[in-house]
Amino acid sequence: MKLPHLDWVNQDSPYLRQHHQGFRTLSFTDELEPAFRRYHANAFLVRMRWALLVAMVLALLFAVLDFITLPEQLNDRLLSLRLGVIQPMLTLAWLATYRRELRDYLQIIGGTVALLCGLAGVGIIGVARHHAFSLPYEGIILVTVFFYFLIGLRFTTAVLCGWLIFFAYLAVELTFDTVTEVLLNNLLFLALANVIGSVGCYFLEYATRLNFLALGLLQDLADKDFLTGLFNRRAFTERAERSWRQAQREGRALGLVMMDVDFFKRYNDHYGHAAGDEALRQVARVIGEHVRRPLDCTARYGGEEFVGCWYDLGEEQMLLILEKIRSTTEALGLPHGQSDAAAVVTLSIGLAYLIPQPRQSLEDALRVADEALYLAKEQGRNRVVCKKP
Ligand code: GH3
Ligand code: MG
Ligand code: MG
Repeated sequence: MKLPHLDWVNQDSPYLRQHHQGFRTLSFTDELEPAFRRYHANAFLVRMRWALLVAMVLALLFAVLDFITLPEQLNDRLLSLRLGVIQPMLTLAWLATYRRELRDYLQIIGGTVALLCGLAGVGIIGVARHHAFSLPYEGIILVTVFFYFLIGLRFTTAVLCGWLIFFAYLAVELTFDTVTEVLLNNLLFLALANVIGSVGCYFLEYATRLNFLALGLLQDLADKDFLTGLFNRRAFTERAERSWRQAQREGRALGLVMMDVDFFKRYNDHYGHAAGDEALRQVARVIGEHVRRPLDCTARYGGEEFVGCWYDLGEEQMLLILEKIRSTTEALGLPHGQSDAAAVVTLSIGLAYLIPQPRQSLEDALRVADEALYLAKEQGRNRVVCKKP
């Protein structure tokens, strides 16, 4: 299925790339797969919790049913499987859904529990056969449906569990020489349950993956600038406010930076708007390469203006980064015959370096950065100017 308005999203978006690339084999690139797995675990968390709770109640009901209907010598064995293996397994998995630190392992935990419960179910049938008592095999089908559709296993895990239990059941029936017609009939139904489960589970995971991409694309659409792929002004303000508050709390320094391409109107007029766009993309890439830590952020503020926020760097270090951005932009060597500052496209950069004070706001700091930028323009452009309020 093709999602709408894909051409509105920045073309470098990893979500967009993955969408174009397709995911029929139910896997994403290394860039997105870990994030998807986390998303999947969270999306199915409540379902998994409820499914396990329901399974615990059902398993208990079956134990009661056994107790009422089965002969005594069989009862002890079966109860020990039901209450000693299945019930504790389900309870442990249920408890695990409440532990945040186990979130990344819920597939393994859920898969192991589903497999062990299925095998215990097969074991119950085997023990009953051993005592010449025939229990209905449909319980195995119930377990199969349960982990394909309810517990929230991903396709591969579910298919693996499903067929392992199928073969375990086959092995048990072969041990006890079940009548061939009955065995064939049972195997056919169990195999069909697996086929239906696999197809259903495949499309369920496919839809979940598509949903993940759609959400990612929506996020990119809301936060990223279409042309450059940097954050937009709104997303920048949100992030910079967060860094601002943290710096205020911890008494750390913040570098707020305004950057503006020199004589860009002339560039556009001379080389055309498309070349102007390409130049902006290249300058943005240089700027984007200089933020790596979670509390740092850069963005396109609008037009040919960019902003940045760097957290807790020494003044020297801060100036070094900005000087690097300036010189790398110059070194791109994008010819600009109409510029009075250099023969190539250049950046003027204004820095406000400060420790946020209680009465100050982010806006005040950006205004100081803008004043520094104005000074940089006045002093001949293609330079970094620092102002401390
Ligand atoms: P200064 O050195 O003083 O900054 O001069 P300037 O010409 O860069 O500044 P001015 O603000 O007069 O012009 C900015 C120009 O940036 C105007 C517009 O043509 C261009 N511009 C703004 N947004 C875009 C865009 O998205 N794409 C392109 N190609 N050009 C843009
Ligand atoms: Mg400009
Ligand atoms: Mg400008």
